[in-house]
Amino acid sequence: MSQINEEIILETLATVMDGDQNIVEKGMVQGLQVQDGHVIFAVVVPPSVGSQAEPVRKEAEEKVHALDGVLSATVVLTAENEGGQAQAAPQAAAQGAPQKAPQQHEGPLMPGVKSIIAVASGKGGVGKSTTTVNLALALSAKGLKVGLLDADIYGPSVPRMLGITGDPTSSDGQLLDPMVGHGIKCMSIGFLVEEESPVIWRGPMAQTALVQMMRDVKWGDLDVLMIDMPPGTGDVQLTMAQQVPLTGAVIVSTPQDIALLDARKGLNMFRQVDVPVLGIVENMSYFECPKCGERTDVFSHGGAKEEAELLQMDFLGEIPLDIKIRETSDGGHPIVDSDPDSPHAKAYTAIADTVWNKACEKLEAKAAAMPNIVQ
Ligand code: ADP
Repeated sequence: MSQINEEIILETLATVMDGDQNIVEKGMVQGLQVQDGHVIFAVVVPPSVGSQAEPVRKEAEEKVHALDGVLSATVVLTAENEGGQAQAAPQAAAQGAPQKAPQQHEGPLMPGVKSIIAVASGKGGVGKSTTTVNLALALSAKGLKVGLLDADIYGPSVPRMLGITGDPTSSDGQLLDPMVGHGIKCMSIGFLVEEESPVIWRGPMAQTALVQMMRDVKWGDLDVLMIDMPPGTGDVQLTMAQQVPLTGAVIVSTPQDIALLDARKGLNMFRQVDVPVLGIVENMSYFECPKCGERTDVFSHGGAKEEAELLQMDFLGEIPLDIKIRETSDGGHPIVDSDPDSPHAKAYTAIADTVWNKACEKLEAKAAAMPNIVQ
């Protein structure tokens, strides 16, 4: 395979016209990055042009993708703000410099989606994905239309937990159809980004893949779209939280995690970008002896409740450490679906009810704050 470089890409982009000038000449190409055959850049347009420039973006993406040696091309349209600085350009994200309130597209990205809830954690392995999937199933069991967007760049596991195999396809040749598992519409960043790609490269990829998953997937009408965020509270997560119009966020923590203050970092991250934190879930909170049924608290259990009180956020509930939770979700049949009458499934359902009530409150408050349209 031939070696692709910036020069070849810019030569190609110089054949993409915007009006009577090409986009390179016009200075519209920004943040170009090439690594191992993966190409990312932004096409910068004035806010007044916004999404009308989509054909230009598409042409640029297609032409670069068609080049020899290019494995993937991800191009985002960004609007220039008043200071003349592009918002949410991949380069800014790559340099770890989150931009305030990026506005990538004009109008809502997913017009049929009523609410979006992010599930986050201070670090990996605390059961964030397991919790997200079970909460999504509990919301679906309430009769809500639920979607799940797996944005965990470091370990996309939602399709496996929902028993989904294969790759997404497009029935109209334009938008990807979400894949469906146990009645939940799902799309995973794992389908768009190579798992072996170096971690440093995944940050900028995550930004663009997230936009792709909102823009290029036929989500249709949903009451709620859950987002399984990448673990951690760094710039990648912060920028992602800014890119999505979130209704609220749920933080998942283990008792140990709380002791290490990781949950607090999660809370601060969302507060920084003005996203309401709906509350905290304590996972792997206690366990019951399989022989005698005696409940044993995990070290420093109960910390989440105290921590939540201290930080003035709501405690949503606790989920025990139980092999059944692991086996069912890792095996593609999460407990809320496979054993809905079990106490563990009921614990998830109770948390889901609270989360949904709180999300509805936030939506109502937002609607009330909107100015009335006078005819
Ligand atoms: P994260 O998304 O935070 O990285 P996962 O949801 O992938 O974590 O969970 C990590 C592992 O822990 C998985 O094998 C999962 O099945 C297991 N797990 C999660 N929650 C529980 C629980 N409450 N009891 C037992 N195992 C759990």
